Amino acid sequence: PLVLGIESTCDETGIALVRGRELLADVTATSMDEHARYGGIVPEVASRAHLEALRPTLDEALNRAGVDLGDVEAVAVAAGPGLVGSLTVGTAGAKALALSLGVPLYGVNHVVGHAAVDELVHGAFPERFLALVVSGGHSSLLLVNDIATDVVELGQTIDDAAGEAFDKVGRLLGLPYPGGPHVDRLAKEGDPAAIAFPRGLSKGKELARHPYDFSFSGLKTAVARYLEAHEASGEAYSRADVAASFSEAVADVLVTKTLRACAAYDASTLVIGGGFSANSRLRELAAQRCEEAGVEVRIPPIRYCTDNGAMIAALGSAVARAGLPASPWDLPVDSQMPLGVTVVPPAA
Ligand code: ATP
Ligand code: MG
Ligand code: FE
Repeated sequence: PLVLGIESTCDETGIALVRGRELLADVTATSMDEHARYGGIVPEVASRAHLEALRPTLDEALNRAGVDLGDVEAVAVAAGPGLVGSLTVGTAGAKALALSLGVPLYGVNHVVGHAAVDELVHGAFPERFLALVVSGGHSSLLLVNDIATDVVELGQTIDDAAGEAFDKVGRLLGLPYPGGPHVDRLAKEGDPAAIAFPRGLSKGKELARHPYDFSFSGLKTAVARYLEAHEASGEAYSRADVAASFSEAVADVLVTKTLRACAAYDASTLVIGGGFSANSRLRELAAQRCEEAGVEVRIPPIRYCTDNGAMIAALGSAVARAGLPASPWDLPVDSQMPLGVTVVPPAA
């Protein structure tokens, strides 16, 4: 069926049209610039921006796809996790559209969508694969037996997300917000082996208790201590080495744990999604170690890794193909939507 997807979990308003596994149009409006001067996302500003962007973004998506609103056969919307106000705007729009068109409404999981979108790029998924979803808001490792019906969360960050840790270290290094891409650039000039920063939850009892979870806040603190100690003593140090060694620690933990899961669950395909997949050290290390391990890596182009409507339409399309029942008309939003829920089920 022709599926309209609506994404509004954070600061991007994304609308896309997908038929089967074919992407017909994908349009994104962002309120990122409005938040930059506050050094972080202001939920109230984001909600208002969604409200203003929803209609023009929808019109443009229909236009580019060359379809009429009346051709739409299902509406999918991200029901969580995300900011409550932002989610409320997107789901209200989705409910209104689906009701007025008389088509099913699917409230789907945003994080699972980050993996689902790869089907539009690299074709149908294998029977079983792992997905690493890394962004400013989440760092999760998923075992996907079926993208519509059987997604298991193996682990996630117990504190900061990978992108969030980069943004915090960017601030420590005096780089502009958001710091992630700046730290990445600086890291290329440094030595990744210069400083032995800690790998969170990677040894002994902690590893045993959290085999597939991540922790980046201790690492960020280690970077802060290193900088403070060197500032206090006046001892010379290289900011590029700090950036490179920090990046190495993050990429190393992500890739090591992910590949351990690939082996444990006998998965030979890895999908990486989320805006942090732009990180160059993560890409290098994943490519290198996955090749050694015989694991195929699939990473969609970056415009489908940051928040977008295509990921929601792709997941809605998979859910519709699987013949799952529609979500209820009073579809609630869930800012903490668990990964075990791919699509909100009808009321019992
Ligand atoms: P969500 O968490 O809802 O998916 P988000 O807006 O928080 O969305 P994205 O837009 O997917 O996250 O990703 C942005 C995050 O990734 C930011 O924290 C940013 O600093 C980080 N980031 C982007 N590019 C790089 C890079 N090359 N290296 C390191 N971090 C990066
Ligand atoms: Mg974003
Ligand atoms: Fe996201």
